[in-house]
Amino acid sequence: MKIRIIGGGPAGLCFAALMQREDPTHDVVIYERGPRDATWGFGVVFSDRALEFLRADDGDLYRLLSPHMETWTNLTIAHNGTRIPVSGNGFAAIGRLQLLSLLYAHAERLGVRIKFDSPVETLADSERLGGADLIVGANGAASFVRQDNEARFGTTCDWRPNKFIWYGTSRVFDSLTLTFRETGHGVFCAHHYRYSPAMSTFLVEVEEETWKRAGFERMSAADTTAYCESVFARDLDGHPLLSNNSYWRNFPAVWNERWSFDNVVLLGDALRTAHFSIGSGTRLAMEDAIGPKRWRCSRSVACRR
Ligand SMILES: Cc1cc2nc3c(=O)[nH]c(=O)nc-3n(C[C@H](O)[C@H](O)[C@H](O)COP(=O)(O)OP(=O)(O)OC[C@H]3O[C@@H](n4cnc5c(N)ncnc54)[C@H](O)[C@@H]3O)c2cc1C
Repeated sequence: MKIRIIGGGPAGLCFAALMQREDPTHDVVIYERGPRDATWGFGVVFSDRALEFLRADDGDLYRLLSPHMETWTNLTIAHNGTRIPVSGNGFAAIGRLQLLSLLYAHAERLGVRIKFDSPVETLADSERLGGADLIVGANGAASFVRQDNEARFGTTCDWRPNKFIWYGTSRVFDSLTLTFRETGHGVFCAHHYRYSPAMSTFLVEVEEETWKRAGFERMSAADTTAYCESVFARDLDGHPLLSNNSYWRNFPAVWNERWSFDNVVLLGDALRTAHFSIGSGTRLAMEDAIGPKRWRCSRSVACRR
């Protein structure tokens, strides 16, 4: 089967690896618009046992990823300096770049070809997609595959009003923590967790009114970082916030009534986004990859064969 995948994120990479492993004669190519070593953001977190779903469907990948995960057992809520641990909420985290590097190696070892620096702009790209039995739109939340075919997929997209900005920090936290700080402009919330022995993700979220009152609309990137550092100074304990393409965004809650039409299927954030506060976007993207593989096995996936 000739499978062409648009997007080399967790969804596209996991699906490619599963299909190639199932049948080494499949001709599987991923087109990724970015270079091999580029990534945005810092770490991603998985809820407790979130990788367990991989055990049954891709034990090799499970064994490859598990040793690289940072794990902890508590969730902590911190309100103006008062810390409340909530037990029974285990989590595991990994740097996004490391996760992608491991997934590239895993997929390529199985025979998947990944073409970096290769954006696909339209489903009519006959050079790359011509003759494909299955075309996979795994190109993230702003997927053109979905946006150009909203009526066919039954798409809804609800832009949530809160603003958020994704930083990293060298402060290493001992648990996944939700920190709330009250300021003269309103409440600031940080979602933070360690994803390597030396680094943590630090995501700041505010209501739109707080964002406006604080003057972020007209603030430079450097001043924005300094402002957030000052709000969370006691939590950062002298460590800086580190920017990596960090800018204020709104969260698009994407939903589709249908995963596929003809021989085109959506996976991962292209199909449906998961809010960062539940830390499941990457897990869901990887679970999506398992779904169509099962469909195909039961001969119900919308591909030409
Ligand atoms: C602020 C924030 C924090 C998050 N925190 C977490 C977290 O803690 N835990 C978690 O599990 N998830 C988290 N997520 C979500 C997670 O990053 C995504 O859900 C996950 O990466 C989805 O994987 P994906 O493969 O569907 O899409 P993506 O990871 O977005 O990958 C899509 C790929 O497609 C490529 N692409 C796009 N357009 C094209 C094109 N036209 N041609 C070729 N290639 C293209 C992109 O370059 C990208 O590599 C967070 C997201 C955000 C925004």
